[in-house]
Formats: sequence, structure tokens, C-alpha cells
Amino acid sequence: MKKIILLIVILPLFSCKDTQGRLTLTQGVHISNITIISSEDATYSPYVGHLVIEKDKIVYLDKNEPSVSGKFEKIDGTGKFVIPGLIDSHVHITEVQGMLPHHMEKYPELAEEFNKQMPRSYLYHGFTTLINLGGISEEQLTSFNAQPIKPDLFHTGRSGASVANGYPMNFAPEQFRFEGTPNFVYLESEADNIPAKFEPSDHTPKAVVSRTKNSGAIAVKSYYESGFRNMPKLPVPTKSIMDDLLSEAHSNGLVLTVHGNSLEAHSFLADVGVDVIAHGLWNWGKYKDVPKDSLPTEIRNVLDLQIQKQIGYTPTLTVIAGEEALADDSFLSNPELNKIVPKKLLEWYRTEEGKWFAKDLFGDYPAEEIHAIYGRIQAHAKLALKYLSDNGGLILFGTDTPSAPTYGNQPGHNGFWELKLMDEAGVPLDQILASATINNAKAFKLFSDVGSIKVGKKANLILMTKNPLKEIEAYNAIENIVLRGKVLIRENLSAKQ
Ligand SMILES: [Zn+2]
Repeated sequence: MKKIILLIVILPLFSCKDTQGRLTLTQGVHISNITIISSEDATYSPYVGHLVIEKDKIVYLDKNEPSVSGKFEKIDGTGKFVIPGLIDSHVHITEVQGMLPHHMEKYPELAEEFNKQMPRSYLYHGFTTLINLGGISEEQLTSFNAQPIKPDLFHTGRSGASVANGYPMNFAPEQFRFEGTPNFVYLESEADNIPAKFEPSDHTPKAVVSRTKNSGAIAVKSYYESGFRNMPKLPVPTKSIMDDLLSEAHSNGLVLTVHGNSLEAHSFLADVGVDVIAHGLWNWGKYKDVPKDSLPTEIRNVLDLQIQKQIGYTPTLTVIAGEEALADDSFLSNPELNKIVPKKLLEWYRTEEGKWFAKDLFGDYPAEEIHAIYGRIQAHAKLALKYLSDNGGLILFGTDTPSAPTYGNQPGHNGFWELKLMDEAGVPLDQILASATINNAKAFKLFSDVGSIKVGKKANLILMTKNPLKEIEAYNAIENIVLRGKVLIRENLSAKQ
């Protein structure tokens, strides 16, 4: 008897279905006759069906129309398509695009408007889950989470696991660099250049991963970067450090994702067998001048090893495109930007002051030459991506928004751009969708909650008027974003002009 009472008490918590299979909702959404595009294994068989949400969860999914009663919103999905909310596994929500700290101090109102709009801009383009790959402070997390409407945000702790004086802590002035990188890894060869107050035992891979875990992170971010442009040669992690970061990450249930975009870095990281490489392979070193359509054997061998080990490969093609965008004004006149960038900030980007990074980067270099250089790098990046896509590589969608203080990587918009560049590279549309949903969710251990449309999962969905398995433009034909069961109208998320 006791058991039966217990069952009756417990049952309503798990199901809103009565014995006749009727759904009684208190705060529901019923989407009818919609083409459902989702997958548990990256193969897609779309079908017209019905989807019911109660509160923040999916409670029904089937070809047959359910019997629904109670309080709910009904959406006629006839002629429309629904996919899981998109996941961008490489963003930096801690930056204001195109600004340095002194710009933010000078124009606090621009920074504030940007930070208010930023989460909405990600949602505007269908991104309901973000992973911040790099440092994030408690204040930054609190302020993002205090926004009324925002994607789910995951992170990699207070700082990345950069080796002492390596990338990216090399950018910070020496007197702040160690305080600013609490999770730096001690490097014996840098011992003379590390202030004495930092104990080596606090900066072993084990100590760093343990701190990262305790700050609520889902992954550890590290770096293999020996330098680019005119940087002096930077210290990089040893094989034993990277091996230890990997095994410590795994014993703490975390994922190890590592910055690297050169042949040297990809080769090192493939050899170690890290979980995820946070960029594509576009810096081809001694092969940088090979024709745009040829993949050198040495590069193919590194990609083959990544495919064999199923290492996650994050193309981040917009890193290249977002820098190249600074070479001329056509980027800033794209009307799509009005939807996601506050008007006053867009105006500031057009001023001489707003173009500071373009001047730093390119000086008086002619635009055609810049496009020729970046065009070749991008062609190489696309070639490597296409090879992975043709040969069973594990592609994870990520943009690195913003990859530098460039206004060329705008929240949300950059994601749509990345999707288009992957399409241009020749990645099939089903693989593109999988990369931004199921692949990212599995790689970052979020799959029990997001990444596919399934009963019991979080109701994070996108409703589109075009089929994303037929045309890439579908990702810009979004009508609604369902965020934790709440139906949002896309246009209401756009920047108020
Ligand atoms: Zn990044």
C-alpha cells in the first residue's frame, strides 16, 4: 500500500501524461505538423510530426497528434522545420568586439549596450548554448547570467592552462600576467622569468586542472602556439605537460581542448591525442605557398591521425575572415549587422578611432594584397576541413568569437558566417548541422541535456521556414527560438535601433 501511494505521489513529477495518453500541461507548448530534423547518431531522417513541451523540457515527440489539454501555446508548424538549438563550442563572451580596456573605459555606455545585446544576438542566430574557451571571472559569469534572456553558458575556468609566459599570457604586461592567469602551468625552462611568490606545486597540471574543475568548468583550455606575425618565439608545453593535462582532465571528468592552428601544433596535439583542437589547420608553415588546391602529404598525415583518433576539429574559419574583414569597409556596410550590433557601436567602428586594430594590423598595406594573403590561408583552411569531412573526421562547430579585438567577429552573426564558410568549403549540410548540435554536445559531455530533440531533453529549439539539410540560408530563415521551453520571436531579439 505504501508503495502505491509513493508511486502516485512520484508519478506526476515525471510525466504529465494520464492513463489514456492525454497530456495535461500547466505551462506547455504544442508544435504541430512540423518537419522534425534531429538525430542521435548524425544520420538524418526528417519526418512531419508533433512536439510537446512542458515547462523547460520536451515531453512528447511523435508522428501521431497527441491529445493535449491544460494551459499551453499552440504553434502550427505546417511547412516549417525544427532543429535542436545550436551550440558554439568556442566563444569569448568576456570581450567587447573591437575594443581594448581603455576604449571601454572611455565609452562605458557603448560597452554596456554591447553587453546587453550580446546574448540576444547569439539567440537571434539560433545559438542556445555557448562554451567560453578562455578565462572568465565570477563577476563576468554573474553579469551574463543576470541578463533576462541568454543562451546557456559553459566555461573553462578563471583562466586557460597557458604555460608560463606562453600564449596568450604573453599579451599581458609582465607585472599583471601571472595574477591574470591563475591557472598558468609552471615551465622549468621559464623558472627565471616567473616571480618567486608563485609556488611550482600550485602550478602543476594536477593543481591547475583541480582548480579549473572547482570553478565549475566543463573543460580545460590549453594552448600550443609558438607565435605568429612578428612575435618572438614563445614557450610551448612539453609533451609530458600536455599528457598530464589530458590525464588530469579525464580523471576529473573534464574535456581537454587546445588552441593550435599550425602544422607544428596540430601534429603535436594529434600525437598526444587531446580531446579537441580549438582551431583548424591553416598555418601550413613551410607549405604556406603551395597552390590553393593542393594538400601536402605531411598535412594529410596529420589529419589522418586526427581522424583515426577522432579528435574534435574546430574549423573556426571566421578567425581568418574576421581579420580580413578589416581590410575594407564592405563588412561594416552589411545590413545584417544592424540586427545584432547596437547602432552607436556600429557608428563608432566607422570612426578613425574605431578602426585602430585595422591600422595596427595592416597599416597602409593595399587591400588587394591583404585579400590575396588571407585568401590563400582561407583556401588552405577549407581544404583541410574538406579532407576531414570526406574522410570521417569529427568536426565540431566553433567560431572563436571574437578571435582578436576585431569588429569583424560579431556575436551570432559570426556563427551564421562560419556555417556559410563551412558550406563553401564543401562540407555537406547534414555534417554541418551535426557539428553544431550532436557532435558538440557529445564532445563536451552535454548530450544528456541538449544537442538533439528527444523526450526528456531541454527544450532548446529553432523553428525555420527553410530546410537546413537543403540550403545553408535556412540558418538565416529562423522564425522562433525556443529557449528552455520559452518561445521567442526572432525579430524581438534584434538590436533596438
Ligand atoms: Zn579563442
